[in-house]
Amino acid sequence: MPEVLTVDSFYDFGRKGILMGLTCGSGHVTVPPRASCRICGSTGLITTQLSGKGRIVSFTEVFVKSKEFPLDTPYTLALVQLVEGGSLLGVIDSTSITDVVHDAKVRIEFRQLGEEKTGWPRIFFVSDS
Ligand SMILES: [Zn+2]
Repeated sequence: MPEVLTVDSFYDFGRKGILMGLTCGSGHVTVPPRASCRICGSTGLITTQLSGKGRIVSFTEVFVKSKEFPLDTPYTLALVQLVEGGSLLGVIDSTSITDVVHDAKVRIEFRQLGEEKTGWPRIFFVSDS
């Protein structure tokens, strides 16, 4: 039986630069992992490697710094629709993408922030055009 993708193993793969998701029998992609398909509710999910590529569907500017998310503000948070289906929220890498626009092609990068040595890496998006 294949190992079920947990949130911890999702981020463990992320540290290796690999985006893993879950696919149900109908081909729906669920990411980050959860117990059932986000579309049909099926619990028969198979761990699948995803390309990490997608397009920006929405974005917003964040002006408030938080202890839990120690990034210089403002930064841009984007919702990205993945090529295989499913979507993820992540931070736009402003050195890679200077002009954030709807439908821009991006790819995921998992990064530890600042002095973080432990804990889950954060989701960033860089340009893929
Ligand atoms: Zn499904």
